[in-house]
Amino acid sequence: MILGHTAILERLKAAADRDGLHHAYLFEGPEGLGRRLVADWLARYVNCTSESRPCGRCPQCVRIAAGTHPDVIVLEPDPTRASQTIGVDAVREIIRQSGYHRYDSKRRMIIVDPADAMLEPAANALLKTLEEPPEGTGFVLLTTSARRLLPTIVSRCQRVRFGAVPIEAIRGWLVERGAKDADLCARLSLGSPGRALELADGGLEKRREARSTLLRLASAGTLKGLFDYDQNLTKGTSRSDWLPEATLMFEVLEELLRDVAVHASGANGMLLHADQPDLVADWSARLWPGGVRQVQQALIDARDQLEVNVNGRLVLDAVFTKLRAELGEHH
Ligand SMILES: [Zn+2]
Repeated sequence: MILGHTAILERLKAAADRDGLHHAYLFEGPEGLGRRLVADWLARYVNCTSESRPCGRCPQCVRIAAGTHPDVIVLEPDPTRASQTIGVDAVREIIRQSGYHRYDSKRRMIIVDPADAMLEPAANALLKTLEEPPEGTGFVLLTTSARRLLPTIVSRCQRVRFGAVPIEAIRGWLVERGAKDADLCARLSLGSPGRALELADGGLEKRREARSTLLRLASAGTLKGLFDYDQNLTKGTSRSDWLPEATLMFEVLEELLRDVAVHASGANGMLLHADQPDLVADWSARLWPGGVRQVQQALIDARDQLEVNVNGRLVLDAVFTKLRAELGEHH
């Protein structure tokens, strides 16, 4: 089931119906919005043999949904391998396959998910076919951001930007699925159904723990407790051990800063941390508006630094000491 993205679906339908699909689409947007679902839907829409497409029951629809349709090819990193990349050999194989006659589809679809997993030689190997695919073949490339792709790839595609799904639609969907805290999960999802589901599925609980830790670090008497925490968290050898917790903490901090702004604007009904109104009010008194800007900047810097893999402990130290300083200034 696809939530939202009505305009995108209509646009793709209209193009398909007049036989005017672009030969390469770039579906762009954050994780969990449903880009892949729309790519699969498009494959079924163009190939379904029933009156009302996609029917989900005809042989075309069934095989596409099962991932066994020979003309709907997904190029993705090998899940059994540590490096989540798409190599040049895999791309050459796809190009070779796309040179064959189609089996029994109206349109062969090649889905690259995510396109940014292609290493540069792989991306370069794809360029020519991407620009001029064999007749009856189309590409859908997926990425969280076009900036992660070579400009030569992007320029060959028609970009389709996926935006947030309406919170109300996500809320209704969660309620139908019998999720607890549907309203809160929908709001915290910021318009991503995948994220909403994750939250309903234990993520919310983890966030509350992260928030407790964050508050403890923000208010502890000395800096030592903070530095000890950062050191303990990041002492694992692998960054993948601590990055999820650090990322979660940053997300919670960002939400609280957002709530401070919401509180300042008087719209308390829209708080993400509505179960902690006193906390939000307290932070507002101390941080709004200058402190919020300062801490937000520290978060932006921290994210940039994490991208280039600097010492995690230093990154965490910098954010939390900044937060403590800003909170403390108006004590
Ligand atoms: Zn069908």
